[in-house]
Order: sequence, then C-alpha cells, then structure tokens
Amino acid sequence: MSQKTDRAKPSNEVDRVAFRDMCKAFADHEIRPRWEKADADKQFPMDFYRAAARAGLIGITATEEVGGAALGAYEEAIALEELAKANPNLAVSVLVQNVAGSILYEYGDAHHREIARRNIAGECLVAITITEPEAGNDIQNVSTSATRDGDEWVLDGIKSFITLGGDADILVTLAQTDPKAGRHGMRFFAIDRNTPGVQTSQIDTYVNRPAPTYRVMFNQARVPASCMLNAGFAEIMAGFNRERIMVAARWLGHMQTALEWGLEYARTRRQFGRAIGSNQSIAFALAQAHLDIEAARRLTYYAAERWDSGVPLQDVILDISTAKLHCTQAVVRVTQTVLHVAGGWGLTSELPAMRWALDALVAPVTVGSVEIQQRAIAKQLGLPVE
Ligand SMILES: Cc1cc2nc3c(=O)[nH]c(=O)nc-3n(C[C@H](O)[C@H](O)[C@H](O)COP(=O)(O)OP(=O)(O)OC[C@H]3O[C@@H](n4cnc5c(N)ncnc54)[C@H](O)[C@@H]3O)c2cc1C
Repeated sequence: MSQKTDRAKPSNEVDRVAFRDMCKAFADHEIRPRWEKADADKQFPMDFYRAAARAGLIGITATEEVGGAALGAYEEAIALEELAKANPNLAVSVLVQNVAGSILYEYGDAHHREIARRNIAGECLVAITITEPEAGNDIQNVSTSATRDGDEWVLDGIKSFITLGGDADILVTLAQTDPKAGRHGMRFFAIDRNTPGVQTSQIDTYVNRPAPTYRVMFNQARVPASCMLNAGFAEIMAGFNRERIMVAARWLGHMQTALEWGLEYARTRRQFGRAIGSNQSIAFALAQAHLDIEAARRLTYYAAERWDSGVPLQDVILDISTAKLHCTQAVVRVTQTVLHVAGGWGLTSELPAMRWALDALVAPVTVGSVEIQQRAIAKQLGLPVE
C-alpha cells in the first residue's frame, strides 16, 4: 500500500458525514443481525462480504480503474470505526480485503488487477498470508520458499494465523524466492487456494471468531510464474502503516460500543438502593474510559489526515504508531472497565461484556504488537533502540 497523494479525492465535512451515515446504516442492517451466529459458529458469513462489496466498502481507497471508491485513509477509518461499533470481527474481514486487495492492484499486472476488480465487486475473497509459526512479528524471518521451476513457482512452507485463510479464493502470500538475499529475496504471490498442494485448517482462537484464522500449508504447491507480484518485504512494511491506522479505527469503534453499554448499565443497575454509577469509583473509571476514547479518536483521525496529506512516510510513522499503540492498549482498558462494572453478570453469556473484553485481547498483538509500536516510537524520538 503506497502512500499516493493523487489517490484520495478531496473530501469535505458534508461528504464525510454522509459517508459515516451510510456506514452506520450498513452496520445496522448487515452486521448486527449476523455477528452473534457467526461468532457462535466460528464461521465467516460469505454473504456479508458480498453485501460489503455492494455497499462500496471493499476497495475504499482503490483506484476507480479497478472499481474502487478512490477515497482516502480518513474515509477508510470512518468505515472501520462504524463497522467495528457493530462488531470488530466482521469489520476486520473488510480491513483484510482492503489490505490484501491493495497489494494486488498496486503491485500487480493486468491479471492481478483483474483479481482486485473481482475482489472489490464481491466475487473473490482474499486473505493476507504472511505470518508463520516461527515468524510472527519478525517478518524478515519468513521461510516459506518459492522455487522457480520452468514456467512455475513451487511453494513449500506453513503459514499461521491467516484470517479467512480457509474461506478465501486467493491467498496473497509472502514467500522467500532467494534465501541468500534475506528479506530482499521475498516476494508476494497471488495463489488460488484450490491449487493442489495447498491445505488449510482452522485455528481455534478465542478472538476474531466470525472471521476465523487458519493454518495454511503449502506442500509442493505449483503456481504459474505470473502469480508473482512486484512487491516484497519493503512494500509490506510500508503498507503496514496504513493498515495500522485502520486497526486503530477498528478498536476506536469497539471501545465506544463497550463504553456506551457500560454507561447505561451503571445508570440503571441498582445496589444499596442507588445506581452503581453514583459511586465515584465506578463513575470515575467510566470517565477515564471516555478520556481513552477521545484521545483515540483524535490520534486516529490525525494520523489518517496526515497520511492523506501525502507528507513523506517517514514523517507520519510517529503519528501512526502513536495512534495504534494508544488504541490497542486503550481498548483493553476500556473493555476491562466495562466488564468490571458488569459484575458477576458480566461473566455470563447473558451480557455482552465478556465477549467484548475477549475480542479486545487481540488488539495489542497483531499488525505489529504493542512492543513493536513502542520500538517504532522510540526510534522516531531518536533513541538508539535496535
Ligand atoms: C486473530 C489473529 C488474526 C491474525 N490475522 C493474520 C492475517 O490475516 N495474516 C497474517 O499474516 N497474520 C495474521 N496474524 C498474525 C499476527 O500478526 C501475529 O500473531 C503477530 O505478528 C504476532 O506474532 P506471534 O504470535 O508469533 O508473536 P511473537 O512475534 O512471537 O511475539 C511474542 C511476544 O514477544 C514480543 N516481541 C516480539 N519481538 C519483540 C521485540 N523485538 N521487542 C520486544 N518484544 C517483542 C511481542 O510483542 C509479543 O508480546 C493474526 C494473529 C491473530 C492472533
């Protein structure tokens, strides 16, 4: 995902309000009625992807050439926030489409752009396939190999934690084509999941259940040479930056839903003859959660605005990592506060507080963990961290 100044259409406040209203209405109609069943079944509802595509939420920042809306990171953040308010996990399925899709149309040829076009049209689900059992945050250690054999590449290796890996039509996969070149030898491949030698198995996580994660195994999987994209390690590291703004927006949305519910519970739940929210300890904890959310909103949209303004990537990394660090830590605090406010009933499936707290636990882990963001910030502050 490169940062191009010409990609985002100029957008005014009126457009943004209308866009937010559209996203809200979509979340009400397409997420709220679906997410609980998808969560219980641990199965991705494919019709949700098609509905998101019809609403124009796949390829928000993609060029019009591939059917995208050619909007900016700011609008993409609005979409993620509003979708995540209804459910952060169906929201992440949209995020994954927009990240994997952008690799296809930004670094691919006509064949890849056609896959991106179909993805945006709701005809081709994609997954971003990078992480391995021994290469989590340390992506430069990816060891899945791609070996050239005539007109084909032969892939061998195991990927882990691939969101929608078993549902996707196309796996946008990072592999090592030249082990001697280290991270410079890595390339992305757009691989048909039904290729012989590609197998998937679901990983039973406590989080992200409506958009499940998979192991993806490549065992002598032969793909045409044309599957290779002109993108590798450097491009994905640059692309992670926009993705981190979207991750921040996702958790901003989730926090708000949790706090809204917690406030209502604190106003209406009575103990000792009065609302529990009349106790300062409860009220102040919720006030603190409000502070976390307001800071999250300002940091997230500031980072998105800076990204869209086209300032050099180097100058926006600090804003992005700060937003992501805050949002991914704050969502855990806020949902834990709400869980505590809900008392014993919060620990039952009769109330949503536990589900929200569980969902939030993935926030500090993915797309560059809390420690990775702290390291990025420290480097930007001129500290000599490794
Ligand atoms: C639900 C879910 C969905 C996911 N979806 C996808 C997906 O669609 N595609 C994909 O490719 N990947 C995906 N991932 C992978 C995710 O991005 C990785 O889990 C993440 O990179 C962490 O990797 P790991 O679990 O191996 O942790 P590790 O990298 O082993 O880290 C373990 C701990 O060590 C810390 N640590 C590691 N290195 C350092 C360091 N240098 N300094 C300080 N601390 C450090 C980490 O912060 C963490 O606390 C998903 C993961 C989950 C859980």
